[in-house]
Amino acid sequence: MKQFQTAYSGEKSFRETVSEWKARQQGGAAWIHIFSDGAERKDIEAVCAAIDELMPDAEYVGASASGCIYGGCVSTEKLVVSCTIFEKPDSFAIPVFFPIEDGDIQPFQDGLRAWMARLQGVKAIEAITTIDTVPIRDVCKAIQQEIPEEVPVWGGGAFGDNIFRAFLFKKGQPFHSAGVLMTFIGGSDFHIQYAYVSGWKPLGYPMKITRADGYVVHELDGHPAYQIYEHYLRIPNDDHIFYNALEFPFAVEQDGRTLLRHALSCDENGALTMSTRIPEGSILHLTYGDPETIMQDVMKCVREIGDFAPEVISVFDCFGRKTYWGGTEATREIVPFHRIAPTYGFCTAGELIRWEGCMDHHNLTLVIAGMREGTSETRKTEALPKETENNESTMSMVNRLVNFINTATAEVMEANATLSVMAITDQLTRLYNRGEIQRRITDRIEENKDKPDGGNATSLVMMDLDDFKHINDTYGHQEGDQVLMRISDLIHQAVRKLNSDASCGRWGGEEFMLMLPGMTREAAAAFAEKIRLEIEKMWFDKCGKVSASFGVAQAMPEEKPDPLVVRTDTALYQAKAEGKNTVRQAEETPEQP
Ligand code: GH3
Ligand code: MG
Ligand code: MG
Repeated sequence: MKQFQTAYSGEKSFRETVSEWKARQQGGAAWIHIFSDGAERKDIEAVCAAIDELMPDAEYVGASASGCIYGGCVSTEKLVVSCTIFEKPDSFAIPVFFPIEDGDIQPFQDGLRAWMARLQGVKAIEAITTIDTVPIRDVCKAIQQEIPEEVPVWGGGAFGDNIFRAFLFKKGQPFHSAGVLMTFIGGSDFHIQYAYVSGWKPLGYPMKITRADGYVVHELDGHPAYQIYEHYLRIPNDDHIFYNALEFPFAVEQDGRTLLRHALSCDENGALTMSTRIPEGSILHLTYGDPETIMQDVMKCVREIGDFAPEVISVFDCFGRKTYWGGTEATREIVPFHRIAPTYGFCTAGELIRWEGCMDHHNLTLVIAGMREGTSETRKTEALPKETENNESTMSMVNRLVNFINTATAEVMEANATLSVMAITDQLTRLYNRGEIQRRITDRIEENKDKPDGGNATSLVMMDLDDFKHINDTYGHQEGDQVLMRISDLIHQAVRKLNSDASCGRWGGEEFMLMLPGMTREAAAAFAEKIRLEIEKMWFDKCGKVSASFGVAQAMPEEKPDPLVVRTDTALYQAKAEGKNTVRQAEETPEQP
């Protein structure tokens, strides 16, 4: 493979250049990329016309860009044309345009399937799409379903904004503003290796998106989303928020993968408009982008791609990265690839890559594909500069500080988790404490309130050990504690076998409360009777046998938690009054005050 490249500077010189390319084509297939960063439509048309006329067998594809890669640099050229020429006779690159109308993905999916059946030996697919005008997650899903996993798919989103809409085109097809341009590439001796790099690293606590709508994230953990930037990072909500927030984008968990998403703007209520839709309920982290760390990740990728010894390198570079670096400074992460092999590509509005079997739409990444014909032995890359390895002794100050924050955060989170458990647990018995069991009763009753027929039955069982004071007085407080612990263990084991919502807690002293969802009063009473018998069977070294009394009640329609507890307690009182070591059920009607 070889590549020629030019920046358009007028029809005459362009035609001369294309003629030179034609002369050097030597019969191999030609695959041309035309990227426009605000070029005039007539100039793009002149480029297409020249290729149509002078290289009639060349395939070409084009897209709007937020900066074209030219000579390994993120350039300010408006129109860059890169011509890739295959040298093996059976190598091919066949672009197909799939329009997507009204978000209907089916024709695209059917089309992909048909083309994959028609073409033999497809080894990779370059995908360029208009991200905002297509249902991008569905596009990714269709690709994942229709393209075999061993065929790499990589690419990016044509760039557009409020003034210029994103567009795509190919040979024989007019400009389109909604669709996917897929180039099927193959050949018996064609090889590809691809990768993506982010470089941003997670920072601090995980957060949950508690309110989102399309591209807008309203709330994180119940607070206006922007507060995260103000509170932790002192980023003001002004015209620069986009630039400042780019250093700290979000890493969003999606189907077990982590994708970077960044804020474009913020409204006066603190809602963030994001680069991509993020579903409500998603878990995310802040991340930080430190130039040194990003470059370390880029250089790792350079070494991997370098080892593959490609002949041509494709670069899809997020416009957010370009902005992060500050325009042409972005060149520093592209030029190392260009030292390996000539590059083509552009700054995108999102990147596409199928990685570990999953096709995703990314932001803030650099998607790289190295391609060659023949073995790596046939081509020796010049020695790569020895870059600093990412080892501990050369960690940057920023990385050390972030390591401090993340380690401290993890420790605090662990301590919080322990505290949360402690806050709801009774120290002696390890059962829920009274507050927690009360909260669970209230939640259950609330939950059932709006359900037709009052939802499933809910019953309570209140249990009190008989003559416990006597045990304490005769055998000591320690023996009393032993009895409480062993009996708690027994009821815990019995309750956990019922269902995951059933719970038991220590109500106070030697009193326990069981909350039994899905159980009628009769079923709960039978369950209490079983526990009563098991307690009767227990044997304690000092005090021998113990017993307990039980009160049972079932929540009535619209009954509040407090009256229900009172009725349960009354039933327990009756059990005590009627000789203890027995189970009593509450009356259906609450007592009149
Ligand atoms: P009844 O059969 O009527 O329930 O009589 P009782 O003796 O069980 O009831 P009473 O309310 O008179 O006494 C309960 C005793 O439980 C008094 C208290 O010292 C004891 N107690 C409360 N909490 C603990 C504890 O954590 N450990 C121990 N060992 N005893 C406790
Ligand atoms: Mg008692
Ligand atoms: Mg008691």
